[in-house]
Amino acid sequence: MFHFDRDLHIPEIDLWIDSTHVKPFGFVSHAHSDHLARHKKILCTPATKAFALQRIKNPHTFLTLNFGEELSIGDYQISLHPAGHILGSAQILLSKNGQRLLYSGDFRISDSPVAEAFEFVQADVLIMETTFGKPHYKMPPRTEVEAELIDLCHSALKQGKTPVVFGYSLGKGQEALKILTDAGLPVEVDESIARFLPVFEEHGIHFADYRIFNPNHWGDAVVLLPTHFRFQRFYRNLANSYTIYLSGWGMDPDAKYRFGVDKVLPLSDHADYEQLFQLVETVKPSEVYCTHGFPEFVQDLNAAGFKAAVLE
Ligand SMILES: [Zn+2]
Repeated sequence: MFHFDRDLHIPEIDLWIDSTHVKPFGFVSHAHSDHLARHKKILCTPATKAFALQRIKNPHTFLTLNFGEELSIGDYQISLHPAGHILGSAQILLSKNGQRLLYSGDFRISDSPVAEAFEFVQADVLIMETTFGKPHYKMPPRTEVEAELIDLCHSALKQGKTPVVFGYSLGKGQEALKILTDAGLPVEVDESIARFLPVFEEHGIHFADYRIFNPNHWGDAVVLLPTHFRFQRFYRNLANSYTIYLSGWGMDPDAKYRFGVDKVLPLSDHADYEQLFQLVETVKPSEVYCTHGFPEFVQDLNAAGFKAAVLE
């Protein structure tokens, strides 16, 4: 049903899956830039289309599918299902003659206040991302991580320091904004994160008051910035701050040195090790192919009795 040569391809309907090279017809699972290209025709959810329009210039045409809606192309039935990674992120299910192929894309099973809840789908073949496929990537419950984030920001402000929180401009940024503003903290958010908020509002995800960050004049609030701002001059000159980076890699003891911050909190938009296993155990595929991860995870799946391989 599929072919893989650097990119995932469904030859019979010439559909490319999450290719970063321009193709005639491509499925984009979500609007992170490592999954996005200016394909001539893009298959995606309406939210992914809205984000993609802010990220790529002169896109060609979109074919949008709502979650659960079915599309027929040739002998194939196609449907999209929430992946829980960021708003609009989708798994794609392709069926032909009763044979079902599921591609997870980036996914997260635990709930997020800014993304649709993950949906389990049955399939015969599963192609899945395995970013956190080592046992020590067992993320603490998100309520704990949220409480720690709020606490750290409160106590920094109390000590007269500026809490600076770093997250990706799409997904983690809005997730942090929601957590911080719902907790009643004053927040200044960078425009690169704020520009996506109207799409969230259109999807019924609302945010309390916040201010737009101004690098020349700021203070008395939590500052929420995209991750690459760590390399900007105003940030390097910053004194009296407490810096927090939001990432599942926070489970690694050396993460704060790697990211150059005071604290890395494991607020992740990817499945942790247990959720990766939970996906395979629930989907019960006869074959699993793993991408974006550690080869050890494939060995762990095989040891647990699944027929797994690295997608290559
Ligand atoms: Zn992603």
